[in-house]
Amino acid sequence: GFNCGIVGLPNVGKSTLFNALTKAGIGAENFPFCTIEPNAGVVPMPDPRLNKLAEIVKPERVIPTSMEFVDIAGLVAGASKGEGLGNQFLGNIRQTDAIAHVVRCFDDSNVIHVANQVDPAADIEVINTELALADLDTVEKAIKRVQRVAKSGDKTAKAQQEIFEKLLPVLNEGKPVRSMDLSDDERATIRELCLLTVKPTMYIANVNEDGFENNPYLDKVKAIAAEENAVVVPICNKMEAEIAELEDDEKAIFLEEMGMEEPGLDRVIRAGYGLLDLQTYFTAGVKEVRAWTVRVGATAPQAAGVIHTDFERGFIRAEVVGYDDYIACNGEAGAKDAGKWRLEGKDYIVKDGDVIHFRFNV
Ligand code: GDP
Repeated sequence: GFNCGIVGLPNVGKSTLFNALTKAGIGAENFPFCTIEPNAGVVPMPDPRLNKLAEIVKPERVIPTSMEFVDIAGLVAGASKGEGLGNQFLGNIRQTDAIAHVVRCFDDSNVIHVANQVDPAADIEVINTELALADLDTVEKAIKRVQRVAKSGDKTAKAQQEIFEKLLPVLNEGKPVRSMDLSDDERATIRELCLLTVKPTMYIANVNEDGFENNPYLDKVKAIAAEENAVVVPICNKMEAEIAELEDDEKAIFLEEMGMEEPGLDRVIRAGYGLLDLQTYFTAGVKEVRAWTVRVGATAPQAAGVIHTDFERGFIRAEVVGYDDYIACNGEAGAKDAGKWRLEGKDYIVKDGDVIHFRFNV
């Protein structure tokens, strides 16, 4: 699966968000094959298509796809120098696929701010500086390493050195590498460094109930995000925590009263999905209708591998019906009659919403 690390200064609302996300989460019993860390929560991906499929197939169970969120508390100024539990936190961030950076965009005299004033730009800078410094260290070490090889006339090492050196001025300024305009080749070359500041990032602007509009703090976060290829999700974490406590029917009433179509958490989860270029395909059997996550561009065998590695290795073919066709034809049999049921081979590129039945050898 894919995961997203929640970072941010102390007292900005990270735990509140994390608790809301995990309350909305699905029980670990649905994930017998993954070990979930105590500070991690598996959150279902809201997808109305799943219910539509279930109405047709009437399976024993319906399982959404999900994303794991990891609470990485305690990132403070000085972390990159190993202060506090700095290295451990940076190491935790390194293991995540994407970063959700919570920024305080609300005034509340009852909630102490670590720097004594609410200033999203300054807060973002503290965190981004630590991440950039950690990357700077990584890049400087990598340059030393490839330099030695480059000296002996190795062209690849020379090219690597040049690309790594391009990162230095940006990181020295405390800017993230993801803000750079890099070619695909350059990106591929720096991938091995596992840098923190290349990770796709969303800023979670934590606002008060009435802070979604005319909020200068929020505007500031949007301006910063625009400069560095990041997305912004405005959300009121406190309200989300309250929504997460409600029963389903109460939830619907509350959302309607607030003029909301869905909990803000759903936007966070979707943003994480979008950040990582992920899409969903479905399997639809009488035992189980289930959504699965794959990268955009994944082939049929790669998609099969998400279910089980044996499925990828032994892949023979995929029987595919597009989601719209599946619904319009009222299921697989109808889709077959209408000529909408396709046999696809190992080069097939899976599309969002495909309903797939894999055939494989074991
Ligand atoms: P963390 O240190 O970043 O994990 O922050 P917490 O989630 O523990 O939140 C710190 C304090 O801010 C708590 O008292 C929360 O109740 C409060 N808080 C969180 N989100 C909001 C919000 O949207 N509005 C207001 N007014 N308070 C909030």
